[in-house]
Amino acid sequence: MDELTRFLEQREGQQTRRRLAPLDGRAPACVVLDGRDFVDFSSNDYLGLSGHPAVVAAAQDALTRYGVGAGASRLMSGDLAIHHALEDAVATFKETEAALVFTSGFQANTSVIPALVDRHDAVFADALSHASLLDGVQLSRAKLIRFRHNDPDDLAALLKKHRNQYRRALVVTESVFSMDGDCAPLRQLVELKDRYECRLYVDEAHATGVFGSHGQGCVGEEGLAGRVEFIMGTFSKALGGLGAYLASSRLVVDYLVNAARGFIYTTALPPVIIAANLAALRVCREEPGLGAALLAKSARFREALRERGWDARGVCQIVPIVIGESVRALELSAALAETGFRVMAVRPPTVPEGAARLRFSLSAAHTDPQLQAVLEALGDFS
Ligand SMILES: *Cc1c(COP(=O)(O)O)cnc(C)c1O
Repeated sequence: MDELTRFLEQREGQQTRRRLAPLDGRAPACVVLDGRDFVDFSSNDYLGLSGHPAVVAAAQDALTRYGVGAGASRLMSGDLAIHHALEDAVATFKETEAALVFTSGFQANTSVIPALVDRHDAVFADALSHASLLDGVQLSRAKLIRFRHNDPDDLAALLKKHRNQYRRALVVTESVFSMDGDCAPLRQLVELKDRYECRLYVDEAHATGVFGSHGQGCVGEEGLAGRVEFIMGTFSKALGGLGAYLASSRLVVDYLVNAARGFIYTTALPPVIIAANLAALRVCREEPGLGAALLAKSARFREALRERGWDARGVCQIVPIVIGESVRALELSAALAETGFRVMAVRPPTVPEGAARLRFSLSAAHTDPQLQAVLEALGDFS
């Protein structure tokens, strides 16, 4: 066990050791820590749906009707009509033939990618792809080739150089990136994957619920649903629940039911969660404009930060301000905590050296006075 101790000591020395810090409670845009309320800018509950009355009521109803656990995997006795109702709703939402639900986004990516490619194939992935996408590629044993973040020219050069050495090729990206708050150039990626006979896998974890006329994500918003082979997204962020989906053709879904190990060998999500996810999708459908309102609010907040001299980045509900040194980012985060705001400092190695930042995740549940107050607490850049 010496090496485990050494690992932790090393992390301690580099000030990168992570620790859990249990909260007393949480609600949309609010956390309670040591008996004190904080305005929370660190959650992915972008629409506040984790506490939406219709979502909570649907979960309570399912809990009463079905109990807690699903009892078995989908292929055993854990498969209920409500799982299929959710998958049909996702397919409609994403404009695809079919969809398949997974226990989490992490599990979807690490299950689907290894079912799609193997050691004869290559995956061209955006350099800032989420850990679960990269782990999925590792598990698949396909060759991982990373292209510069959001850089179609770099992808084109790499495809030109390497594509024909491999049998199949998959291009992998997120549609919204959570550390920079920027969006992938999807249309250009679609053109490139067509030109080089690849398939495209888009992770819409942070876009689902926020982008598109009723939260269907960036692929739908850009009218590309028919041109992206694999659209993955989660229920765990803006939809306020848990789990993930892969939206694709009926053939792909039927194949994954037989080939995705993280689908086959795991217990089905409980009906209580499935019912909540279904209700969250219904809220998105019935209250279009939730995402657009959040994006508009975020744009105003970003602009106000810039007016105060901060280097605010991104184009979505995630608003990072680049600070530079880790120590400075930590000091600012601590100072904001003093005044009742929870804003996370993101440091290397999560972001490049010298690019430590404060990351504001905005939510529909944040009020204008709260946003004004955090701007004032932060003050002007100096
Ligand atoms: C959060 C996230 C995941 C993982 O989703 P979970 O449901 O939390 O497991 C996957 N991909 C991206 C891009 C994410 O941001």
